Amino acid sequence: MKCSKDGEFTQGELSPYGNIQLSPSAGVLNYGQAIYEGTKAYRKEDGKLLLFRPDHNAVRMKLGAERMLMPSPSVDQFVNAIKQTALANKRWVPPAGKGTLYIRPLLMGSGPILGLGPAPEYTFIVYASPVGNYFKEGMAALNLYVEEEYVRAAPGGAGGVKSITNYAPVLKALSRAKSRGFSDVLYLDSVKKKYLEEASSCNVFVVKGRTISTPATNGTILEGITRKSVMEIASDQGYQVVEKAVHMDEVMDADEVFCTGTAVVVAPVGTITYQDKR
Ligand code: PMP
Repeated sequence: MKCSKDGEFTQGELSPYGNIQLSPSAGVLNYGQAIYEGTKAYRKEDGKLLLFRPDHNAVRMKLGAERMLMPSPSVDQFVNAIKQTALANKRWVPPAGKGTLYIRPLLMGSGPILGLGPAPEYTFIVYASPVGNYFKEGMAALNLYVEEEYVRAAPGGAGGVKSITNYAPVLKALSRAKSRGFSDVLYLDSVKKKYLEEASSCNVFVVKGRTISTPATNGTILEGITRKSVMEIASDQGYQVVEKAVHMDEVMDADEVFCTGTAVVVAPVGTITYQDKR
């Protein structure tokens, strides 16, 4: 689907996966004007497909688009595009319990712009790929490293939305941790560097007794759709669910820590390496 700066998205079409053409001065290539989403199609035991809350992804994309000064598809256009992509790729959705079809909606400033400013034209694409477990550990416990040098997001930045600009800066910390044998990185707040934020592509929960705490979404962490679902389920199960600034002392003293996200689903944490260089 395409759209001008002040216009509305027109109906798109399905096409085989392949390269797309962009101007070298496309806003996305030069100024990172793009946001994406991630959702999954699951195959149920009866063979039918199930999408996980795509309307929530649509709303989050709208909020993200506002932050990045982009027009966005309507909730209906977004959800229809997800459904059509899932149906067109039906044969690639693995059998129940054997994996999922990961669906990636991407909204970008595709029009040319030389001076810093919003692109004159926008493109919304949805593509998909079958996936298995996100971590090589499968569903086994993760081994996390607390990053104290690099931060993921700062107050007032774009950490609260799924902007592509949030991901390149964490690659260095993540690949360094992975080369040392860790599964992922835990990021700290950029101001005091003693409060938990999130991992590279998932939210984090800390369990102590019957209380489950998770960092509040204050603009520097992503408001995960899995996070929201887990909070609802945990509260229905009688846990006290608290959104707050979670101090690293509480993380290290927790009974249990786990991560949530579309890709990781719900992943238990086994060990956390925290050098505490404060
Ligand atoms: N934080 C970050 C930085 C992420 O990239 C993701 C994945 N979208 C999440 C948290 C989890 O969000 P969700 O549950 O919506 O996938």
